[in-house]
Amino acid sequence: LSEKLDKALHVLKGHGSITEVNVAETLKEVRRALLDADVNFKIAKDFTNRVKEKALGQDVLTSLQPGQLMVKLVKDELTELMGGDAEGINLSGNPSIILMSGLQGSGKTTFSGKLANYLRNKKSKKPLLVACDVYRPAAIDQLHVVGDQLKIDVYSDKGNNNPIAIAQAGIAYAKENGHNVVIIDTAGRLAVDKAMMDEISNIHKAIQPQETLFVVDSMTGQDAVNTAKAFNDILNFDGVILTKLDGDTRGGAAISIKSVVNKPIKFIGTGEKMEAIDVFYPSRMADRILGMGDVVSLVERAQEQYDEEEARKIQKKIAKNQFGFDDFLKQIQQIKKMGNMKDLIGMIPGAGKMMKDVDIDDDAFKGIEAIIHSMTPDERSNPTVINASRKKRIGKGSGTSVQEVNQLLKQFNQMSKMMKMMQGGKGKAMMQAMKG
Ligand code: GDP
Ligand code: MG
Repeated sequence: LSEKLDKALHVLKGHGSITEVNVAETLKEVRRALLDADVNFKIAKDFTNRVKEKALGQDVLTSLQPGQLMVKLVKDELTELMGGDAEGINLSGNPSIILMSGLQGSGKTTFSGKLANYLRNKKSKKPLLVACDVYRPAAIDQLHVVGDQLKIDVYSDKGNNNPIAIAQAGIAYAKENGHNVVIIDTAGRLAVDKAMMDEISNIHKAIQPQETLFVVDSMTGQDAVNTAKAFNDILNFDGVILTKLDGDTRGGAAISIKSVVNKPIKFIGTGEKMEAIDVFYPSRMADRILGMGDVVSLVERAQEQYDEEEARKIQKKIAKNQFGFDDFLKQIQQIKKMGNMKDLIGMIPGAGKMMKDVDIDDDAFKGIEAIIHSMTPDERSNPTVINASRKKRIGKGSGTSVQEVNQLLKQFNQMSKMMKMMQGGKGKAMMQAMKG
């Protein structure tokens, strides 16, 4: 998916502003990428429509890559789609009863153990696990293995085949033994059927849990959405647990499920081990789905630091042919405000490694700044007046050589020319030429 999005966002590179045409092109690719990540068709379409509206409504600065701004828009929208902040588990009961639901193999038993461990270690709770999967003796054993491993109590009743009775006896046991959290592990089937739905619904009614969680295997893609809907219709559950998000599962299911049932995703499972549990953070998930890691924070930092007013003024000056060394100096200072150059480069995927031997630091600008500071205001706004004797004076004043002054003047001339070209109609042609 990441590769596809790269390609999609690449469409925008080289364009000075976001236009309706290239937004449409890019969003077509984004939509394709979402579909590949198992996002439901209608959801992907609505999503891209919303991003499109936002993109066209944005006042896009030419100083920021439109492509990057698009990345940010896409990411923000994804984050919003998957729900605001991470939501916790309701632990207000005494004991607090948590009911697990979901298909067989989704990871209920494993997650019951993970959650018990998490609540004990992070929330200082004393949990009890209750085994209500009465159809397979091995299921009860499995929960005991988990409990033994974590040193967490497990309540079970092997001869009993009534899950409601076991759940109620488990809750009574918890009260007697000072457990303030009861996690009830239940049976699932391979597919949604009436018997399973009736059973979980009856347990739910009988014990009235504070928290009903729906556990779903994120690798099941589109099916995950249908299952979630079926369970939610019956249980009106409180939250979703997405398991098996380790490996290269992209997690498109997270987007679809959240959109269809409108319930928060609370935790994710990222492995078979008991420690492989994470609170769900929509923005991290958006990163994962977009596969772009630090690029997003780079864009955000650039956006924060770049003085928009300043950028507009400079635009105007370039247009009027008034761009001088004072403006150049301001631009350097803007770049420096964004932080350490090495850090910034390190955030670009691949570049960090490539550039690790190249010495780029903020000192690189020191000579340039010194030279500009040694110019008179007139020389700065009108560099053509800088003749040989002035060059000598500037070199002396800045502690540099005439060669260095010459070099800077040459660079500045080239830059000014290029900026003028980009302003005019030649910009597109030049970009085309640069792309080869
Ligand atoms: P249940 O039938 O819903 O109780 O599912 P289980 O808890 O027995 O899990 C089914 C299988 O999925 C087991 O082999 C688990 O080890 C595995 N599993 C559960 N959660 C995860 C996860 O987050 N990542 C991975 N890789 N495997 C998981
Ligand atoms: Mg199980």
